[in-house]
Formats: sequence, C-alpha cells, structure tokens
Amino acid sequence: MEKRFVYADNGASAPVSDRVLNAMLPFFKEQYGNPSAVHSQGREVRRAVENSRKVIAECLNCLPSEVIFTSGGTESDNTAILSVLKLGRGHIITTAVEHKAVLEPCRELERCGFRVTYLKPDSSGMISAEQVRNAFEDDTVMVSIMTANNEVGTLLPIKDIGRLCREKGVIFHTDAVQAVGKVKIDVKEMCIDMLSVSGHKINAPKGIGALYIRDGAGFSPHIYGGGQEKGRRSGTENVPGIVALGEAVKAACEDMEKKCGYVSGLRDKLIAGLEGLGGRLNGGRENRLCGNASVSFEGYESETLLLMLDMRGVCASGGSACSSGTGKISHVLEALGMSEERARGTLRFTLAEENTWKDVDYIISSMEDCLTRLKRLKEV
Ligand code: PLP
Repeated sequence: MEKRFVYADNGASAPVSDRVLNAMLPFFKEQYGNPSAVHSQGREVRRAVENSRKVIAECLNCLPSEVIFTSGGTESDNTAILSVLKLGRGHIITTAVEHKAVLEPCRELERCGFRVTYLKPDSSGMISAEQVRNAFEDDTVMVSIMTANNEVGTLLPIKDIGRLCREKGVIFHTDAVQAVGKVKIDVKEMCIDMLSVSGHKINAPKGIGALYIRDGAGFSPHIYGGGQEKGRRSGTENVPGIVALGEAVKAACEDMEKKCGYVSGLRDKLIAGLEGLGGRLNGGRENRLCGNASVSFEGYESETLLLMLDMRGVCASGGSACSSGTGKISHVLEALGMSEERARGTLRFTLAEENTWKDVDYIISSMEDCLTRLKRLKEV
C-alpha cells in the first residue's frame, strides 16, 4: 500500500481554502486601516467588515445588525451564556454533551448562584424536546443546546426546542460551531435567540467567530472597552479574520446539499468499512453530521491507534480533540453511558469536501493494518 496523506480531522480544524485566503490577504498589507477611522482607508475596511456581516446574516436568515464578530466558538458561547449573569440568579437548561465552551461558563454561573440542569442524552447522543419541556422551572432564564455534537455527530432537534423556548419566553442559545455549512440553519424558523459560529471549522482561520443575537433577546456584553460592535463586543475588529469568515460562510452555504450529499457518501463508506473491521458506530445512523464517523474499537487504545494511523499519514482524533492527550475519557462518551473500555478505543474521523473515495479506502486499509499488527502483538 503506497503511503498517502489523508486529513480526516476537519471537525477539529479545517484547512483555510484558497478562496478564503485570497479574500483575506489584501487586509494585511493593502487595506490595513482601522475600521473605526474616518479616512477613506478606514471606510473601505469598514465596508468589508459590514459586507461580511451581511453575508453571514443572509446565511442564517437574520439582520446584519444581529451578528457580532468574536474570537471564535469559545468566546461566542461564553458571551451568550454569561449574558444572563446580570439577572443575578435563575435556572439554566443545557446538556451533558455540550462542548466545554458551554459547560464551563455554565459551571461559572453555578458558582455565581444560578442552578443548571444538565440533560442526559440517550445512548446515541440524542436529547428530545420533551426532555427540555420537562426540565423547565418557574425561573428558567436560558436554554443552551448544541445543534450538532462535535464528538459523535448527532444532530439535535433544534427547531422543536427553539419553538418550545419561544412559547415559554425563555432565551434559546445554540452552539452551531459544527453545524454551520453542513445543516441548513434559519434562526427565524428555528426560533433561535443566540447562535455561535467558529471560523476554523469551515475553512476560515482559527481565532475568528461570530455570535448571532436576536434583536430584543436581552443581551448584555461580556467584553467592555472602545464600544465596537455597537457596544456588544469591544476591541478593534480582526478585519482579515472577519473577511475570511464571511467568505468561508458564503462558500459553506453554497451548494450545501450537494456537498453534504457527497461527504455523507464518503462517511457511510468509511463507517461500513470500519464496522467490517469490528468497529462499533457511535451516535445515530440517522440525524448525523455529514462528515462524522465516530467508531469504537473495544479492547484497543485510541491513542495507540492514532499514532499508528499518523505514521501511515492519516490524521484523525480520539473522542474530542480538545480533551485528547489528557488521558481522561471524554465527558460526551461518558454521558452516552459508554463502557470505559469502549470509550478508550474510540476514534473520530471527520471528512470534508476535500476528501476523496481513495482517501476512504486508504483509511480503511490503514486501520486494518494497524489492528492486525496490534492483534499479533497481543498474541505474543
Ligand atoms: N463548540 C463546539 C461544538 C466545538 O466543536 C468547538 C471546537 O472544537 C468549540 C465550541 C470551540 O470553538 P473554537 O475552537 O472556535 O473556540
């Protein structure tokens, strides 16, 4: 088998595309003015920032004034969740399978006197609108539930949850970091009040993101200073990043169905191949992110498999990229009720448009090779 390089870790970070890079480059050395400046350089740069905001708003079906730029998914999640701090107390509903960027600000709210319900998913990572309905209390002030799970790829019933929250008059935030560009999002139809976006999952650079905040959603800022972003997020704007994010969102939303159809085909072939090698799929077969193949090989250590795959040129991750290397089982797999042995042998492959059928064949045969070698070692 000839060695090739296969990047199957797009859920951790996707490469910056040529289209995005070309869009952002002029904003380093040619159009470098401060977007708040009154001179023509500044005004030109301001136009580029506002154009990006418009593109993102079109993709989410909201007003441009309802989008603010942040440093990424983590800041967007923190900004949304900590915006209830000013209320002093109350009850929050979230899930046990959220990213740490949601769970940690929730813990901070608990330290400040709020109560938080962490809903438990079923074994496929699914949370129902009914569970959310049953968790409401008289003083529930916010519901924060992700659109798509980053580890096992499960898509949650955001529209049903959004409608429920609107009925109850409770703010609904969703972390859509993994979903933007892969799932059609319409914040109006889905009754979403706040939504987090991250650039580096959709071919923009790391360190740029956005937060949609519905007009009238009762937002209060998290970062104070020069009053940029109409006082909602101070700090001189990351203009190249903002231009990149606009271009990346535009590209991601173009032909989304066609691209996702292709990537789902790759994913299903990969899942079938890995199951043929004894792997067990995590997350549901339906309602699944188009590129996510999370598969467990019980009795094996994911860290060992990842290193062996890396030697063969394949980049993947174990459970969650953010928690790999800590030696701890991911909180998501634990919440799914998975045995420690199965969780320890979990690999996550996240495919994208850039991947090919040959890449999938190569991953499967590389995995076969790794497993055969490890089996032989066990027998000695
Ligand atoms: N939320 C989810 C679901 C994620 O997958 C990630 C990153 O992996 C984040 C939030 C954090 O985003 P960022 O890396 O842009 O801070």
